[in-house]
Amino acid sequence: MIKKMLIANRGEIALRVLRACKEMDIKTVAVHSTIDRDLKHVRLADEAVCIGPNPSSESYLNIPAIISAMEITDSMAVHPGYGFLSENADFAEQVQKSGFIFIGPDADVIRLMGDKVCAIEAMKEAGVPTVPGSDGPLPEDKEYCLKMAQKIGYPVIIKAAAGGGGRGMRVVHTESALLNSIHVTKAEAGAAFGDDTVYLEKFLQNPRHVEVQILSDGQGNAIHLGDRDCSLQRRHQKVIEEAPAPHIPEEARQSVYAACIKACIDISYRGAGTFEFLYEDGRFYFIEMNTRIQVEHPVSEMVTGVDLIKEQIRVCIGEKLSIKQEDIEIKGHSVECRINAEDPKTFMPCPGTVNTYHPPGGLGVRVDSHLYSGYTVPPTYDSMIAKVITYGETREIALKRMCNALDEMVIEGIRTNIPLQQQLVRDVPFMEGGVNIHYLEEKLGL
Ligand code: ADP
Repeated sequence: MIKKMLIANRGEIALRVLRACKEMDIKTVAVHSTIDRDLKHVRLADEAVCIGPNPSSESYLNIPAIISAMEITDSMAVHPGYGFLSENADFAEQVQKSGFIFIGPDADVIRLMGDKVCAIEAMKEAGVPTVPGSDGPLPEDKEYCLKMAQKIGYPVIIKAAAGGGGRGMRVVHTESALLNSIHVTKAEAGAAFGDDTVYLEKFLQNPRHVEVQILSDGQGNAIHLGDRDCSLQRRHQKVIEEAPAPHIPEEARQSVYAACIKACIDISYRGAGTFEFLYEDGRFYFIEMNTRIQVEHPVSEMVTGVDLIKEQIRVCIGEKLSIKQEDIEIKGHSVECRINAEDPKTFMPCPGTVNTYHPPGGLGVRVDSHLYSGYTVPPTYDSMIAKVITYGETREIALKRMCNALDEMVIEGIRTNIPLQQQLVRDVPFMEGGVNIHYLEEKLGL
């Protein structure tokens, strides 16, 4: 077992990791930017180190500062949370070269999955279903590209191999627009990611976003913890997530789980991870793998009873997976609403001081948040300030509890998206389950 963990993140996920470490009797080191000195987990950690000024590039993304903080505090491992350095292969490599443990897979696995063309290739080899497409990077040959797109059928989507966060993608509806779109996406990808490799996929018209949570020890053992539906999105940002995904035939589900597990074993994956799929007409299509813990992990914890962060830490420090697939039973239903400091109508970020904070409670209600009365939400980082998670024996009960929880929640002093969430959890098509990835934007008239 390790003695001390450095948490290279902020906000609710830093607090979530800190809680897991405390349960495991691991001492904690919080690192923070200047403005973040009053974060809740900074107060609760055994030690705290200021690693730089407010811009992420000088603090939470500052690799030398984080490694120095590990050295001076004698930390043995680093948990990267999500975002920031969590999928940065160079960081993972430097951590390991400096003699520390990175809570995540090996750098080369992060690199492999970070290149979407390579990731799709690896998944295909493991038998994971993928979106029909160019099977590799698009060549310079214009005739070839035109023929390829015609064979796949319009609309198609051109994607940057190094893309992420919903950037580096372009949908093409007609043949006449193809070559120019490839040219523009290539140029943008080169400028944004330093790699202008692009590939092409069939653009699915009405898919849902369904993902599979896995845990794997890199020693030949991998399990799945069921799936999540994250189709309610705005600008590719998830707004509400739930587990399990509603209305999926058991057969389709079991075959995609088996493929994910095989892929984990094939690539010697270590840690917690998520296979993201588009799901349309009863079929799954792999789009990417996230090699880290995700924002929406709590809904899977609620329906499986497994503490994903603790298990992630265990396998990443070299322990064998102690849970077997037979031990996992998906029971009941869980929903998560992301609460953001933003205007519920314009979506503009609303930083500021929270004067009053009353979180909701009761049976089947969980709140993962770093908020407290008097806390000032800085303008510098992501606007997510809380996650409200509910559990119920059925989807209906989980949703009803979410309605009540949102009605109870009080955050005064700043604007939040609670009014939007209150509306969404009462929305009839959403309540029926299975709306597609365009539903929210269409509903909002975007
Ligand atoms: P990123 O890494 O930038 O998040 P993804 O490949 O995960 O990129 O795609 C992000 C989102 O873009 C998906 O959740 C989906 O909404 C949309 N998308 C991606 N590929 C397709 C496709 N082939 N057909 C339809 N929509 C797609």
